[in-house]
Amino acid sequence: MALIVQKFGGTSVRDAERINNVADIVTSAYKDGNDVVVVVSAQGDTTDDLIAKAAEVNGKPSKREMDMLLSSGEQISAALLAMAIERMGYPVVSLLGWQAGFDTTSDYGNARIKKVDASRLKKELDKRRIVVVTGFQGLNRYGDMTTLGRGGSDTSAVAIAVALHADLCQIFTDVDGVYTADPRKIPGAVKLSSISYDEMLELATLGAQVLHNRSVEMAKKYNIELEVLSSLTRGRGTIVKEESNVEKMLISGVAKDDNIARISIIGVPDKPGLAFKIFSKLASKGVNVDIILQSIGRNGTKDISFTVEKDKMEDSIKLLKEYTDRWGASNIVADDNVSKVSIVGAGMESHPGVAAEMFEALFSRNVNIQMISTSEIKISVLIHKSDSDRAVEAIHDKFFETA
Ligand code: ADP
Ligand code: ASP
Ligand code: MG
Repeated sequence: MALIVQKFGGTSVRDAERINNVADIVTSAYKDGNDVVVVVSAQGDTTDDLIAKAAEVNGKPSKREMDMLLSSGEQISAALLAMAIERMGYPVVSLLGWQAGFDTTSDYGNARIKKVDASRLKKELDKRRIVVVTGFQGLNRYGDMTTLGRGGSDTSAVAIAVALHADLCQIFTDVDGVYTADPRKIPGAVKLSSISYDEMLELATLGAQVLHNRSVEMAKKYNIELEVLSSLTRGRGTIVKEESNVEKMLISGVAKDDNIARISIIGVPDKPGLAFKIFSKLASKGVNVDIILQSIGRNGTKDISFTVEKDKMEDSIKLLKEYTDRWGASNIVADDNVSKVSIVGAGMESHPGVAAEMFEALFSRNVNIQMISTSEIKISVLIHKSDSDRAVEAIHDKFFETA
């Protein structure tokens, strides 16, 4: 007998038929003698629909009320799944995040899990009940509902797996594993039988939405093996674990992120301290800066460019404009018609020439690179958004055409 955490995303619980399908998967694990905790997301596009509903009544609602609203989506699917399991004759109980012990920070909309008090979960499991928990949510120290950021139900599932020392954490979704690129966009994408935490973390952070990046971070920290698999077809998925292969894959995947904007501060004086001033101002407002590029100083000035999340662009420009005169910068320009395309692979650490191959692929489709950033296991380029699908295809062909 094992303790299994199973997470089902929005498309997996989209309607009654899908909920019954999930109930079949869950109860068959239970029938085999396992303890089962299920984490569910809101049905289909519910979260997007709720965001749209909020906009109808208030263009700038408070984050607290947004979380009050968004957390309701998961409540619906948890109750419906519990009812479907009930009808099949199995003991079941559904719990909201706070009932399942999720204690989070206060950052509405992007709260972090501080701890999961698993006592209620354990009590229910001791009664041999299947426990269905709402993903994506918790309670902060003011006793208010919080949400964990878009896609956060994956992280809820891993947090429960950690708290209960689960034997297995399965992330059921609408594709049957992690692929070398988004299989919905790149038909030649290849399914990976396994992938390391580090590579998966990079892919998730760089735009492969199949897993919430914080779920991978947590799984790595507590050494929880994840399986990403389909709720619609049976069969093995992709295992996310410490080391994927004895021989590291050169490249394990290509990812794309469109949620990005480039800001350039033109003509700042070429002297010490300016980068510090610019980036500390942005940090104080919670703006996450990604790729940074600084030109060589010429005629006493230089340009500093960087990328931010798209919805932080306007606020960042506004903030920086307050200081351009004081800093002696001549102008600020920004562009949100950009995409970041990245390759990830643990093997590139020990293999020269990977960047050149990636750039050759881009050149072959006449794609211009605006910015480049690298780490041991990834290379990212910033390009024009209209080039991004071609770019992903070209890069994928280059590295996987014979796979
Ligand atoms: P869920 O609702 O189950 O959480 P998501 O929509 O968040 O599902 O994530 C699954 C989607 O991730 C897939 O439908 C697929 O289009 C997308 N995706 C992006 N990159 C990848 C990849 N490398 N491998 C698999 N799926 C990917
Ligand atoms: N329902 C939330 C979202 O759409 C959380 C999740 O699906 O993981 O982002
Ligand atoms: Mg998801």
